[in-house]
Amino acid sequence: MQSFDLIVIGSGSGLTVSSEAADRGLSVAAVEHGPFGGTCLNRGCIPSKMLIHSADVMETIRRAELFGITAQVSAADWDFIVKRVVDTIDPDAQAIEETNRQHPNVTVFKDSGRFVEHKVLEVGNERIAAETIVIAAGTRPRIPDIDGLTEVPFMTSDQALRLPRQPRRLVIVGGGYIAAELAHFFGALGTEVTIVHRGPRLLRLEDDDVSARFTEVYQQRFTMLLNSIVRRAHRKGEEIVLEVASDGQKRTLTADALLLAVGRVPNTDLLDVAKTGVAVDERGFIKVDKYLETDVPGVWALGDIVGRYLLKHSANLEAAHVAHNVFNGESRMPVDYHAMPHAVFASPQVASVGLTERQAREQGLLYAASTYSYYDTAYGSSIEDRDGFVKAVAHRETRAILGCHVIGSEASILIQEVANAMRMRLATDAITQSIYVHPALPEVVQRAFESLSF
Ligand SMILES: Cc1cc2nc3c(=O)[nH]c(=O)nc-3n(C[C@H](O)[C@H](O)[C@H](O)COP(=O)(O)OP(=O)(O)OC[C@H]3O[C@@H](n4cnc5c(N)ncnc54)[C@H](O)[C@@H]3O)c2cc1C
Repeated sequence: MQSFDLIVIGSGSGLTVSSEAADRGLSVAAVEHGPFGGTCLNRGCIPSKMLIHSADVMETIRRAELFGITAQVSAADWDFIVKRVVDTIDPDAQAIEETNRQHPNVTVFKDSGRFVEHKVLEVGNERIAAETIVIAAGTRPRIPDIDGLTEVPFMTSDQALRLPRQPRRLVIVGGGYIAAELAHFFGALGTEVTIVHRGPRLLRLEDDDVSARFTEVYQQRFTMLLNSIVRRAHRKGEEIVLEVASDGQKRTLTADALLLAVGRVPNTDLLDVAKTGVAVDERGFIKVDKYLETDVPGVWALGDIVGRYLLKHSANLEAAHVAHNVFNGESRMPVDYHAMPHAVFASPQVASVGLTERQAREQGLLYAASTYSYYDTAYGSSIEDRDGFVKAVAHRETRAILGCHVIGSEASILIQEVANAMRMRLATDAITQSIYVHPALPEVVQRAFESLSF
């Protein structure tokens, strides 16, 4: 059995900790069974946003006539679109792995790790041990329990981001952000998309008004079966046939491809974390304290596998804290998650930070909320954004910013200033008293906050 000062399982956000330790001269085992760089680089944020940019370009061309431009798309080169992504990502992943292999203090184990006893992992045929272990092994797509599923070729986002051929008819099961983003990608490029979602609205965790508007827009773009559950799947020649219980009725869908996007499950089961005494919650995510240490002293966890926010910037924040806390026992820093923003890169885009109006109400807060339409601002009307709006939520007495919710063009950019102000615990004055460039799009954020009545 080999012993190390530190074992890091997972080469996504966990790399922050392993490189900090290796640079300090500690011996580090980096355990990774997939490509280096983790989900964000290889199967998540980066490839999805690169593909979605192609979809956005297509949409811009389609909308060109609104601005007096006659344009026609003669072709969308699927091979090129996918290759651009693969050619960017794969060399990056290889370079990260190479950097680790070349570090004199890092030993790379390119295999699946599994705990076999207290602070001991089995990786391939080897056993490794360390007093300090960081579990950063992320999540994987959840596969729903559908009768006959194993008989049909289905995919998750893991495969959807590098498909060799564009499907003609695609059924997407799910209603969260991955389903929404990939529907936009495939749909804009010409695939006939049907979304089957068990709830009444897409993006159900967003503010109710945002989720309702988003669902309306998607109902115009795609075939949508809401309140619907896929009961059975089977194959008919090259086709996939799905039996769906939809609003109390039986429907049959036929497609060339099936994408399951119904959430993620933590990799704690495959890692057998119980063998090292690490406790998980009822959903299987690792329990940690505010410093990200598990119930077992010296064993830390970060990122998706702790289940707080399944977002890369949250994982990065946590990784920076673990990298600090592991080496600074006397001055550990608790993670401050306040004002964690997120964005959905669909069309329309959605972005949000802080409490939704419903959460403010349910928490019994004295709050004010107000929405402002993009189209009622100079820039919003000049770009013909008729669906977009910003909702501001603030405390009625202190005027502290409680939340902000954006649906529309560049929502992922507009949210940032509110996230920054909230993070600094500023009140609405930070926005209402600032001077905004006229007639730029952020004016819609300022107007939403100005229209709050306290
Ligand atoms: C399609 C998609 C789009 C996304 N888009 C965004 C976005 O736009 N913005 C955003 O903020 N977030 C996005 N995310 C989420 C983001 O990718 C994750 O939050 C982030 O990558 C989590 O990082 P992590 O370090 O916790 O885990 P990961 O990056 O998943 O790293 C875990 C690593 O551990 C390895 N591993 C797991 N088990 C073992 C084992 N037993 N042995 C060895 N190695 C193991 C895995 O191979 C993996 O490389 C997206 C995710 C998906 C799926």
